[in-house]
Amino acid sequence: MQQVLNDILAVVDEMSRLPIPIDEPGDAVPVQPLQLVGHHVAEITRQILHCQYVAYASLEPQTGRVQLVEVSGLTAEQEHVFQKDVGQSSIFDYLEAEEIARLRTNEVVIRDLVARPYVQPRADFGIRYRIWAPMLLDEQLVGTFIIAQSELDVSSSSEDMALVKAIAKVVLQVVERARLTNEWMAARANELALREANRRFDVFLSIASHELRTPLTTIKGNVQLALRRMEKLKSQFIPAFVGCDGYEQIMQSIGRVHQSLISAAHRTSVQDRMISDLLDASRIRANKLAIVMQLCDLADIVREMVEDLHYVAPDRVVRLHLPETRSVPIIADVDRIGLVINNYLVNALRYSAAERPVEVWLEIIEDGTKAKVAVRDQGSGIALQDLEHIWERFYRSDGTETRYEAGAGLGLGLYISRSIIEQHNGQVGVESVQGKGSTFWFTLALALSREMS
Ligand code: ADP
Repeated sequence: MQQVLNDILAVVDEMSRLPIPIDEPGDAVPVQPLQLVGHHVAEITRQILHCQYVAYASLEPQTGRVQLVEVSGLTAEQEHVFQKDVGQSSIFDYLEAEEIARLRTNEVVIRDLVARPYVQPRADFGIRYRIWAPMLLDEQLVGTFIIAQSELDVSSSSEDMALVKAIAKVVLQVVERARLTNEWMAARANELALREANRRFDVFLSIASHELRTPLTTIKGNVQLALRRMEKLKSQFIPAFVGCDGYEQIMQSIGRVHQSLISAAHRTSVQDRMISDLLDASRIRANKLAIVMQLCDLADIVREMVEDLHYVAPDRVVRLHLPETRSVPIIADVDRIGLVINNYLVNALRYSAAERPVEVWLEIIEDGTKAKVAVRDQGSGIALQDLEHIWERFYRSDGTETRYEAGAGLGLGLYISRSIIEQHNGQVGVESVQGKGSTFWFTLALALSREMS
């Protein structure tokens, strides 16, 4: 038994030389190739067991297909022949059903090829005995360890069988560990590649949105200038030609040009908003979203945003419920908090029918320590599977019916809103029932009296 233990220790010792994955992110892991490790272990076991050659093969549990992992003790040419022979066969070509069943119950099978030759001739290199030891992983036969001997050196005594089985088990651990390490390395390489792809994507977005912004600002300025000139033309110069020949035609042409300019102005502001969202999103990713904190009144911000909406969507009903206290002091970035409220409001209008009202609440909660803004619509609501994703970058649920400014969203509004509120140490949330509507909310801490003085 002492010898058995020593022999197993020699194999375990070899196994311990395998490098271990390091948890530190970014560290490369120097792993010896699987083949090399396997070869060392095969070599050692061959010496311990005094046999002609040893091999271990993996087994596909469903088909019984055998694949040679490592062999030691054969010449290169013999190894090639053996590989080919094994590669084209299954375990059923070597062992009988009863023998395979014994392997499955963790027994060693000794096959005397003189007494019981194979049905089909196989590459056995004049070897008489083949000893098969099971490799069981979670009670499934995933491989076998094959020992070939001319004379039966390894007697069938229980100690020898215990040794063979123990070595098979250790070899399986080595192979399994090397396989897991390789898998871990591949996963890590994928993760690094993904991170790099994300980084490049962020750089691209940032450059693209900056590049788009400059010409768009010029276009927007020119369209607005043209609109102002057109209005001046209509109000100051055209009336002088009332009653002249062709007056009606000129008015019609001017009307058409005016309409095109209004539509162009509208489109440029939609584009402008999308590019601002892209820029903000890339700033958030780079931790560079500037927030300018100041003492301000949340009630004023909410009121202003709701009023602005009346210009954009004059036909919609938006009801505002403010608290009795006249002001709601907070320390915040006025523009950014306004943007969040605007995002909630625009979505509420976009995802609900034109005749449905939108309600906005501003409340003081938690014993006067926090303010809560909630925007409720009676629209399509959000499906359960989308609820946890809608705050992610570029997420748009497939089924949402888009009303108002069709197709204007990039799936960035909520992502930006959440980032802004979190930078203010606040919280965002949503309650939604599909088909009935949604309530989007956020909370912020009220300014303490000492902060206000
Ligand atoms: P988008 O610009 O596409 O609206 P958002 O980040 O603002 O991007 O919203 C992400 C997704 O969340 C939307 O595509 C939509 O599916 C869903 N969503 C947001 N607000 C509402 C709402 N009030 N009602 C229904 N779905 C909404």
